[in-house]
Amino acid sequence: MSDAVAQLEEVRANIARAEREAGRPAGSVALVAVSKTFDADAIRPVLAAGQRVFGENRVQEAQAKWPGLRQEFPGIELHLIGPLQSNKAKEAVALFDVVETVDREKIAAELAKEIARQGRVLRLYVQVNTGLEPQKAGIDPREAAAFVARCRDVHGLAVEGLMCIPPAGENPGPHFALLEKLAREAGVEKLSMGMSGDYATAVAFGATNVRVGSAIFGGRPPLTPAA
Ligand SMILES: *Cc1c(COP(=O)(O)O)cnc(C)c1O
Repeated sequence: MSDAVAQLEEVRANIARAEREAGRPAGSVALVAVSKTFDADAIRPVLAAGQRVFGENRVQEAQAKWPGLRQEFPGIELHLIGPLQSNKAKEAVALFDVVETVDREKIAAELAKEIARQGRVLRLYVQVNTGLEPQKAGIDPREAAAFVARCRDVHGLAVEGLMCIPPAGENPGPHFALLEKLAREAGVEKLSMGMSGDYATAVAFGATNVRVGSAIFGGRPPLTPAA
């Protein structure tokens, strides 16, 4: 068994335990395996072990890996979890099933246009900058509910959930609680929150999707600026 498969099983077991401890139904939390920076050879064993939902943070990198893997494995669901530039909306709509990072009017407009043009069905999340960090993507929490409504009413986009990345080094609990409250205000069901270091906490706060990378695939090289 590859390391990644053993670690996948461990993450799944931890999610199941966190569901039980939170009194939530088994299987109520979806695991998004974050495969950014890992190549097709590293991802294939995890697909062979049955994982079908994956997250990538760059459109170009995902385009290089996933069309081929999709031919090998049926039923793959791909989530875009990194910032989307409006000039990449066309490629993103063609490749991804879920975009978790809708965070401004221009992106909503571009996505709506491409979804209509390509006749695709995409599931969408609005990213919320719960820590109001200047360098981080995401809409201001105070504007989240109104933005979800504008996506629906102005752009005809059905948003199904909210997503957040709490500030590094902070207790994530208050950020998860805020996202849950904002989702209720905005009338959306899904909560994408929790990463390798805090996914069990996120399950306790109501996450419906956790995005777990390094706990499955191992460490990544340090970040390089987006091309
Ligand atoms: C990389 C990334 C993750 C996964 O992070 P890990 O700490 O490796 O689990 C989750 N969400 C987003 C938005 C990411 O960019």
